[in-house]
Amino acid sequence: MSIKGETVCTGRCYCGARTFTTTQAPQTVAYCHCDDCRRATGGPVAAFAAFEEQAVTFTPDEGRKAAVNPGVTRTFCADCGSSLTGRYDYLPGQVYISLGVVDQADDFAPRIHTHESERLTWLHIDDDLERVATSGRATIADPSKQ
Ligand SMILES: [Zn+2]
Ligand SMILES: [Zn+2]
Repeated sequence: MSIKGETVCTGRCYCGARTFTTTQAPQTVAYCHCDDCRRATGGPVAAFAAFEEQAVTFTPDEGRKAAVNPGVTRTFCADCGSSLTGRYDYLPGQVYISLGVVDQADDFAPRIHTHESERLTWLHIDDDLERVATSGRATIADPSKQ
């Protein structure tokens, strides 16, 4: 079941073999400073746009799954390795798409820093966003708190 409607966001992996469209704007956009997200994405900080699962369509598929830690499943383009999605058992119904593969990323500024306690000490992002030491699940799971 997918939510029908106009395409709002589009995106693609590094090599272009995998693309996606969404019929909604992100429910939230978050930085994640945790060690896992750094390793999964290869950057000093990760950022994700969260969508309702049914609002996202991948073509031809979401890539290769990697479930390294309990409760988290990530996908990567099977051809180029781009980090595409993350799903978290504690955030049911949402898919977190790596912000860097979203074509309209410039339109969707992050609203929160999660796992601030694991931020690289030399990384300073000058903003007034909420910073939470852990996952921030209470905030990011509830779009009304944005
Ligand atoms: Zn690719
Ligand atoms: Zn993380």
